[in-house]
Amino acid sequence: IKFLVAQLGIEEFRRLVFEEREKLPHDDRWTAYLGTLADYAETPVKPAFSLNGAPVPEGFHDWQETNVYPQRQAGYSVVTVNLPLGDLTSWQMFQLADVARRYVGDNVRTTVEQNIVLRWIPDADLPAVYEELRAIGLGDPGAGTIVDITSCPGTDTCKLGIASSRGLAGELRRRLGVKNATMPDAIKELRIKVSGCFNSCGQHHVADIGFFGNSRRAGNYKVPHFQVVLGGQWHENAGSYGLAIGAVPAKNIPDLLDTITNRYVQERQRGETFQGWVTRLGRKEVKTILDPFTAIPEYEENPLFYRDWGDSRTYSIDDIGVGECAGEVVSLFSMEISRAESEHFDALVALDEGSASLADQRAYQSMLLAARALVRTQNPNVGTEPDAVVQEFRTRFYDTKLFFDKFAGGKFAQFLLDRHENPPLNPDLHAAHRAIEEAQLFIEATHAAEARINGVIVR
Ligand code: SF4
Repeated sequence: IKFLVAQLGIEEFRRLVFEEREKLPHDDRWTAYLGTLADYAETPVKPAFSLNGAPVPEGFHDWQETNVYPQRQAGYSVVTVNLPLGDLTSWQMFQLADVARRYVGDNVRTTVEQNIVLRWIPDADLPAVYEELRAIGLGDPGAGTIVDITSCPGTDTCKLGIASSRGLAGELRRRLGVKNATMPDAIKELRIKVSGCFNSCGQHHVADIGFFGNSRRAGNYKVPHFQVVLGGQWHENAGSYGLAIGAVPAKNIPDLLDTITNRYVQERQRGETFQGWVTRLGRKEVKTILDPFTAIPEYEENPLFYRDWGDSRTYSIDDIGVGECAGEVVSLFSMEISRAESEHFDALVALDEGSASLADQRAYQSMLLAARALVRTQNPNVGTEPDAVVQEFRTRFYDTKLFFDKFAGGKFAQFLLDRHENPPLNPDLHAAHRAIEEAQLFIEATHAAEARINGVIVR
């Protein structure tokens, strides 16, 4: 919404809201809360008191370093209750409510990083609060560090999930937790966020290191993958988004993370942020870090690779293709779709270099290549001329709804059709960025459509 408000201006935004409201049956609840806003004003339950060198329990200092920060009002602190993957049992909720009532009153706050915040804790009470939280399994340190991974529900419960974001986040948290004590501060300070699909509920686009789920076909199987999104800004009000660098099989993500963080620590210049390091390296070089992790072993060689994190089932147990001839089609498609991905990557590079027109053109070209890859599974003789490719794509996959996503309908196909019919005159960097994002979604939708049409079930 903030980008929309910035683009439209608050007056126009307000006008549109009121216009929309006119169409809805009136509901008093829209504004009723305005009369009781004062009821939500927070006042401390206990007077401020400093810790003043009092003895503290074991583990307190580690917890304090990451989970406590001073409140603006002297003598009070804000405590972040670190919830692994945002999880909290009903028993813990009751216990936490009891702790909150005694120390801070009725108000607790949830955060976008899936933690809970307690405000107005007198400094002198911090050791007692720590012990009480620890007793109910909520005393983990590491809030706001690399182990505090944000994840959407993904395939656990979300119908749109493509890969197991929670499974991956849990595995990364486990591995990072083991190394936490010896980890350089530069790594500890990074943020990881994971979404189960491109919809971004896990905020992967505003993390130092973000992942979102997708899948790729390997022979007659489907393999869970994650797109790697680097260099997003979670601070400064999520000031800039990261961009997708490439897709990596889910089972390779933990090792890839080790490689990326190790290289960052070894190569960073004094005071250089992760975002700065990614920018200095440039997208091409960053992609070379990913490349060794993209290979998929044969199913017979490593069946575990074909399972998602936290799922003991083979990801493609029902994914057997329709016949021998499918093998040839898949291999042609795979080759051609990888050209589309390569063109998409070049669009990202052009964007990095500040060339908006070239970036836009390449994003468009990548959609054309992806569309052509799909068309050629039905009509190998289609040419390369854009009008012919788009016309074939429209007839065979849009009008028939074969390309349609179960939930998004024809939205992704529309990205190509609109761009083909209305090329922008002078795209700026913002427009080029959007074109690249749309091309990414179009390519993902092409993968999904091809797998669906050729006999692989895509969830
Ligand atoms: S990002 Fe995708 S998988 Fe995750 S909650 Fe949103 S729609 Fe569901």
